[in-house]
Amino acid sequence: MSQDKVTRQTFDEIMVPNYAPSQFIPVKGEGSRVWDQEGKDYIDFAGGIAVNSLGHAHPALVEALTEQAKKLWHVSNTFTNEPILKLAQQLIESTFAERVFFCNSGAEANEAALKLARKYARDHFGPEKNEIISFTNSFHGRTLFTVSVGGQPKYSEDFAPLPGGIHHATYNDLASVRALISERTCAVIVEPVQGEGGVLPADPGFLEGLRMLCDKNKALLIFDEVQTGVGRTGELYAYMHHNVTPDILSTAKALGGGFPIGGILTTSNIAASLVPGTHGTTYGGNPLAGAVAGKLLEIVNTEEVLEGVKKRHHLFVEGLNAINHRYNVFTQIRGAGLLIGCVLNDTFKDKAKAFTTAAEKEQLMVLVAGPNVVRFAPSLVITEEEIAEGLARFERAVASVANS
Ligand SMILES: *Cc1c(COP(=O)(O)O)cnc(C)c1O
Repeated sequence: MSQDKVTRQTFDEIMVPNYAPSQFIPVKGEGSRVWDQEGKDYIDFAGGIAVNSLGHAHPALVEALTEQAKKLWHVSNTFTNEPILKLAQQLIESTFAERVFFCNSGAEANEAALKLARKYARDHFGPEKNEIISFTNSFHGRTLFTVSVGGQPKYSEDFAPLPGGIHHATYNDLASVRALISERTCAVIVEPVQGEGGVLPADPGFLEGLRMLCDKNKALLIFDEVQTGVGRTGELYAYMHHNVTPDILSTAKALGGGFPIGGILTTSNIAASLVPGTHGTTYGGNPLAGAVAGKLLEIVNTEEVLEGVKKRHHLFVEGLNAINHRYNVFTQIRGAGLLIGCVLNDTFKDKAKAFTTAAEKEQLMVLVAGPNVVRFAPSLVITEEEIAEGLARFERAVASVANS
């Protein structure tokens, strides 16, 4: 086996087979364009699954990362560091948060949020208040706790026995929550737009209703904004579209623009339950992540970028509607900002993967969200030219699926 040339075939030979990556290997990116080993270019409508919020190799992020890399990479949480404290200040100034905790991924952020909710309930009400309500089809990460809380049994059932005290209600159905919530409930966790579950936005009033039910039952309301956060929906966080403030908010994905970082935002009162020794992580809140996310937030949390997301949303929806008009493949184009899902009609039922495969042939990167939804989660600053070129490629991909 040669070590100097790796190919897509190498993946099949030596990697654990839990992923099924596309047939090309990206080697370079700039903005919303990516090049593979052969020098072929791709338009990136996938954004690393809603992560590359400023595209690839954004000069300001490259500078933030390399400047920090020359100074200090890691000290652990035995010491704090300047970049992460500055990032925490930025988040507190821009959101409901009074306190922030950092980790390295979305699953870890939710793990922290859920552990905090249980600890807070135990501290204030006793150990019987430990039940968690989540939703069918929700996704909260791949740790054992977060797959158990997630509402897709196919991700958890093979790993039983699972953590207990978890119930699943139906998304956008307050009656189903009313039937499960009680004084034993410590938290309700919800995505403002279900991402992996099919890009399904909360109905008007649903999140407000959850807030009321949580207040009545002294349960914490956790918003999983791992996918919807950091400008994705056209506000800094999706809760800002609604008349609702969560008690704990988890954030990750777009926060680092490609550098791993996650975190939770919460109030001082709730945060007080995580005293020294109760929770932690070695890498969480490291200076490199802090420097990159700080710069990213400075750029994204501006009128220009957030308004730009709304404008780009319309360009996508218009373009996708036009394609649908010609090929009749979708029943609905839904989502918020630059998290957009195209729901396939009955003719193409369970065929979402065929669209991403066809897109790859047309040199376009797109995502699925379950078997029936084609998902777009591009850079928040993707150019109009890149959108137009990507949609033209998508139209060819749709044509090839529709005519096959
Ligand atoms: C991606 C995602 C997660 C998990 O994040 P990881 O960084 O993959 O651990 C959790 N919740 C939601 C809503 C997500 O979209």
